[in-house]
Amino acid sequence: MSRPIYDRVALIGLGLIASSMFWAMKRGGLAAEVTGYARSAQTRDTARRIGLCDRVCDSVVEAVQDADLVVLCVPVGAMGQVAQDIAPVLKPGATVTDVGSVKRAVIEAVAPHLPENVEFIPGHPLAGTEHSGPESGFAELYDNRFCLLVPTEGSDPEAVLRLRRLWEGMGANVEEMDADHHDLVLAVTSHAPHLIAYTMVGVADDLRRVTDSEVIKYSAAGFRDFTRIAASDPTMWRDVFLNNKDATLEILGRFTEELFALQRAIRTGDGDHLFDYFTHTRAIRRGIIEAGQDTDAPDFGRGAKAP
Ligand code: NAP
Repeated sequence: MSRPIYDRVALIGLGLIASSMFWAMKRGGLAAEVTGYARSAQTRDTARRIGLCDRVCDSVVEAVQDADLVVLCVPVGAMGQVAQDIAPVLKPGATVTDVGSVKRAVIEAVAPHLPENVEFIPGHPLAGTEHSGPESGFAELYDNRFCLLVPTEGSDPEAVLRLRRLWEGMGANVEEMDADHHDLVLAVTSHAPHLIAYTMVGVADDLRRVTDSEVIKYSAAGFRDFTRIAASDPTMWRDVFLNNKDATLEILGRFTEELFALQRAIRTGDGDHLFDYFTHTRAIRRGIIEAGQDTDAPDFGRGAKAP
């Protein structure tokens, strides 16, 4: 077996993203020892019960002691506090990274706390599910998914390369991106769509002319996929919107304009506009499938047994 990439990795926060990292690192033999810390005793107990991490620590300071790589896997709004707590005990030469869904706000919250003798290389794996918590992770989550690294000015190229190799070892395709561009891209591809899904499900909930049981029973036609996205973790998504305000508002502004244009086309009977628009969106879907980022199977591969 090849040598591990890091001797000791500390995972701070033990939810979907951290637990998937742990199983993927184990699968690839990428770390000699993985320590873990979560805020609540309940999560730490669950982690111990299911064998998540080689050692689960009762304090964040203990978890990062001697770690060569520290991965912040907590909600975006909690990153700054965690950075402040761990800063005094970080090993000189260690790398600190994060997996937060927003980059500029995380850099601003974390970087000021870190000592000069550690490398801070923000990151974001573009993979997830609507499930959260220590039991939701699985080794394959990052397979063939993108992980974006956002090296800061002056990042040591060796440290960036090492982190890249870790993510590649966990199955991801790694690319580098500037923080502001990352936040704009993600506002388009993830943040605004989540907000729209939340809204759509909220609207259905408000429509008293359609009963709740009808919404659930007949949800195959599109609505079901909105409900899956809208089941995502409320803490995580609250923090995403509060910390990627500008880019999300910019995209929502554009969204509203397009929606008005479609609304107008429906009212005026402008079928050409609708047809051209839907032809264009279909091509985007084809592009995603060709890039291997989703399945072309009917009903997203749910199969005939799906309700
Ligand atoms: P999760 O399953 O909800 O787990 C979050 C973990 O953070 C839990 O262990 C929780 O501890 C801990 N935590 C929460 N608040 C904390 C605080 N104030 N201080 C210290 N620890 C705290 O979340 P996740 O889905 O793994 O997401 C983690 C990060 O990954 C977020 O920054 C998110 O933006 C990013 N991300 C998520 C996805 C996704 O699809 N889920 C995808 C890419 C990136 P307790 O269990 O003890 O409360």
